[in-house]
Amino acid sequence: MPSAATLLRDVFGFDAFRPGQEEIIHTVATGCNTLAIMPTGGGKSLCFQLPALMRDGVTVVISPLIALMRDQVRALKAAGVEAGALTSGNTEEETAEVWQAIEAGRLRLLYIAPERLAAGSSLGMLHRIGVSLIAVDEAHCVSQWGHDFRPDYLRIGELRRALSVPLAAFTATADPETQAEIVDKLFDGQPPQIFLQGFDRPNIHMAFAAKDNPRRQIMTFAAARKGQSGIIYCGTRAKTETLAQALVTEGHNACAYHGGMEPDRRRQVEHRFSSEDGLIVVATVAFGMGVDKPDIRWVAHADLPKSIEGYYQEIGRAGRDGAPAETLTLFGPDDIRLRRSQIDEGLAPPERRMADHGRLNALLGLADALTCRRATLLTYFGETAGHCGNCDLCDTPPETFDGTEAVRKALSAILRTGESFGAGHLIDILTGNATDKVRQRGHDALPTFGVGRDMDKRGWQGVFRQMMGRDLVRPDRERHGALVMTQSARPILRGEDSITLRRDTVDRTPRPAVRALVSEEDAPLLSALKAKRRALAEAAGVPAYIVFNDRTLIEMAETRPETLDAMAGISGVGGKKLERYGTEFLEVITGATEQVHPTRRKLAGSGAGDVYDRLMAAQSDLARGEDGIDRPMRCSASLLAKVASQRPRTEQDMERLLGEKYADRFGAAFLDVLRAAS
Ligand code: ADP
Repeated sequence: MPSAATLLRDVFGFDAFRPGQEEIIHTVATGCNTLAIMPTGGGKSLCFQLPALMRDGVTVVISPLIALMRDQVRALKAAGVEAGALTSGNTEEETAEVWQAIEAGRLRLLYIAPERLAAGSSLGMLHRIGVSLIAVDEAHCVSQWGHDFRPDYLRIGELRRALSVPLAAFTATADPETQAEIVDKLFDGQPPQIFLQGFDRPNIHMAFAAKDNPRRQIMTFAAARKGQSGIIYCGTRAKTETLAQALVTEGHNACAYHGGMEPDRRRQVEHRFSSEDGLIVVATVAFGMGVDKPDIRWVAHADLPKSIEGYYQEIGRAGRDGAPAETLTLFGPDDIRLRRSQIDEGLAPPERRMADHGRLNALLGLADALTCRRATLLTYFGETAGHCGNCDLCDTPPETFDGTEAVRKALSAILRTGESFGAGHLIDILTGNATDKVRQRGHDALPTFGVGRDMDKRGWQGVFRQMMGRDLVRPDRERHGALVMTQSARPILRGEDSITLRRDTVDRTPRPAVRALVSEEDAPLLSALKAKRRALAEAAGVPAYIVFNDRTLIEMAETRPETLDAMAGISGVGGKKLERYGTEFLEVITGATEQVHPTRRKLAGSGAGDVYDRLMAAQSDLARGEDGIDRPMRCSASLLAKVASQRPRTEQDMERLLGEKYADRFGAAFLDVLRAAS
């Protein structure tokens, strides 16, 4: 039996496991019942696909959506693995092909839709073909309380008993209730080996902004990312349509998606999204589970999601390939009011509503967090983390102030007016704005009238929003959203507790610039590689990422392999893909490298030009390390130009300039070149 590491490299072209994968694969391959909880993008599929290749017999994979199954089968076939799906979406030829592969004993993975389990004949068929492992994707679909409940998932336990083979279940939903239900329904209550993987997605940049002309905020964010695939989540169906239209008018490739659309149109959008490069889908949360595209570069929320779990799941759709991805979530007092009333007006039993308020509070806490967002998010999921350096609050720490006085003034205004008014009127009272409504009610005679003149209306809006966010006050649905004080505000009102608030975030425009995927020098090559990928994908009628994903192309652009051997060292280039596409991509790379690099051109005529060439030669000699067996590496052209012009003299200076990784490989050789040149 080939080892997991060998299969990982030769079939999938990856040279390292993602966190947790190796242990899970080992456990599944040795035939233990397994439940693995991994974040989206953590690489769950590989955790059953590799064991399927390591074990004899067929692995049956149960997955809730036909689109997901087809994507996986397509990707496996592209990597040279015999896989097939039996679903209601198959053509006759497809089904015949699957049967042929089964009968010839070639098939390694058989994907089936849960509905098939209802047919008695399926069980007999699965018995006959020698199933040796059952893998269940999106195992939380077995949970009756969850949003994705699929009744047919309840038959899986029966299937496991009948076939008496090991079962491996996978999900990204971590809460203990769902976990317990999975153990109960799939494993008859016998605890399997459980793996709970970390929830951090370090490549996703997180940012929130208070709404301030939200249409403009979203358009600016999208404009800075033109041509990249993205999702914009909206709170209402109507908004998806208008926003998609606005994006099209601005020259974006965009379309709307929501639950009210005809199933055919929805499928069309799903198909376009997975196969086109750079489409923006403006959607309600209905756009979700079927989205398996690994190279979504950004996700924006035009409205606040409904819970911290929802937020995490939605931003988690970005950057599954591990390359940088960006997110922006807008929020305002109206969102908070809407989400609270949706919970209050829902049909859920009271305990559940309490829990939903709690999940919303956690999200609002994240929205108005004072320090690192990722640390705040991970703490909620029970993990500890330091500052991440990849969120808006790490980029620019927020300005804070002691808000105790302001909150007490606001609470006092609320109580003195009988908890009967919304933020707008209360702010008028606090800022001493004697509107008709204020005068009619005699509120200009209150002792609180005008006590908040030291802050403007915007400042107060921020205070009220944060008070709602921290659940110090809640809108009362019986009285048109009038703000009512909650128990948690009492200690502040009594002077027993203090509170730190953010200066309002309205003026904080999140970083509009896109963090480039590669350096300026490598960008043209990356575009050329993408164009090649698009052409190949179109010719084969598959989504672009089936050829190679973004991360693989980025590595090609940065390391510029010049031979097929070097190409094989790129992450994501497995044996089959090397054979199929290697030469074509090599041609793109060598074609681009042969032309004189623009950075080199700028140095022409100066002494540095000659040094640059010699550094380049030294670098080529060491491209795969001293023994020629290491991972290919090369410095960007601008870094070489810096070495050539700054001429560091000591190892320390060289390391400061190159960074540890590059200094390790090239530092000594570069110093030799510089010494010889001086
Ligand atoms: P999940 O189902 O957990 O959301 P997937 O199984 O779809 O995630 O994997 C997400 C992406 O990560 C895919 O593009 C996959 O090819 C890639 N991937 C998985 N494992 C690795 C690995 N060890 N190294 C590099 N990329 C990987």
